Amino acid sequence: MGISRREFIGACLAMGAGVSVGCSSGPRLFQERWYVFGTLVDVTVTSDDAESVRKGMARLAGFFRDAHSNWHAWKPGRLLRVNQAIAQGREIAVDEGIEDLVRGAQLQYQLSEGAFNPAIGRIVGLWGFHDDMLPTGAPPARTLIERWVESAPNPTQVAIHDGNLHSSNPAVQFDFGGYAKGYALDAGMALLKASGVSNAVINAGGDLNAAGHNNARPWRVGVRHPQREGVIAGLEVAGDEAVYTSGNYERFRENNGQRYPHILDPCTGMPADSVASATVVHRSGAAADAAATAFVAAGPGRWSEVAQAMRITQAMLVTKSGSIELTPEMAQRIQLSARHRRRSVVI
Ligand code: AMP
Ligand code: MG
Repeated sequence: MGISRREFIGACLAMGAGVSVGCSSGPRLFQERWYVFGTLVDVTVTSDDAESVRKGMARLAGFFRDAHSNWHAWKPGRLLRVNQAIAQGREIAVDEGIEDLVRGAQLQYQLSEGAFNPAIGRIVGLWGFHDDMLPTGAPPARTLIERWVESAPNPTQVAIHDGNLHSSNPAVQFDFGGYAKGYALDAGMALLKASGVSNAVINAGGDLNAAGHNNARPWRVGVRHPQREGVIAGLEVAGDEAVYTSGNYERFRENNGQRYPHILDPCTGMPADSVASATVVHRSGAAADAAATAFVAAGPGRWSEVAQAMRITQAMLVTKSGSIELTPEMAQRIQLSARHRRRSVVI
């Protein structure tokens, strides 16, 4: 079946900020768009209760704004203060939000057998990715990378007791860039539901959480092609489902025509560059976000083992050479064009 870009991303793209469109009877469509987490976030809701939608959207906007500044890896905020305290060997009081993020990230680190490691902020910064602009120029010196590898930070070196966080390893620097969006979208969807909204999609630059349905039909979403314009696949999602894609196509360091992508192999401190993208479908956005990052870091030879360890059953990996690897459950539901299906294998 051929898939047009418009057909599949239509359901999840906002047409403007704060608009509500639709017929006078039956549920109406509401859409909001904000710039947060370094990307455009589109919220699409169908509801016949405009007041609940208005309240839910306002709570969501406030929550996302706070989450963005509180959990930022390198801009002034709570997480930066935590990282500074760890580097100085100090204990620091943390709020429930950061405690919960750290505990979730510790779990995902352990499940992923280290492929997802959000304690690697120092090496992410060394590669130049703690900047709004894409870095250029020669990679960091070999000795600096080796020294970092020896320092071996991971999130289980951090303990939190009675709201006080302490790390036994001063090299731990939290960078939740691969996890906080999923965590925030899970919490954001819970906020919408608590406001009386049951049918919604929150789409943060292609990573999305869906709930309920779109006027009795599933939400239809597209997975962006990692190597060219348009979508590589379509999916129908219904109920509580999250779809997260990590890729090496947007953020990279460039030096003399060579690209060094932003997802790093925590064992070597080097960019993981044999995967173009990894897509995960799961009930939890946080788990899907961590897993998609982990699969890119693990690479084509190891990702399916990491998927099993993380208990992820629906995933797709696109290798740098363009071949597509699917878990059996993903193969059953994902809609690929005939051309892409020919390049796919079920693993
Ligand atoms: P995502 O787009 O969700 O895959 O997140 C990518 C971001 O996660 C990067 O820009 C880094 O901030 C961070 N990161 C890079 N490599 C890893 C890794 N192996 N484990 C956890 N986070 C990582
Ligand atoms: Mg991620």
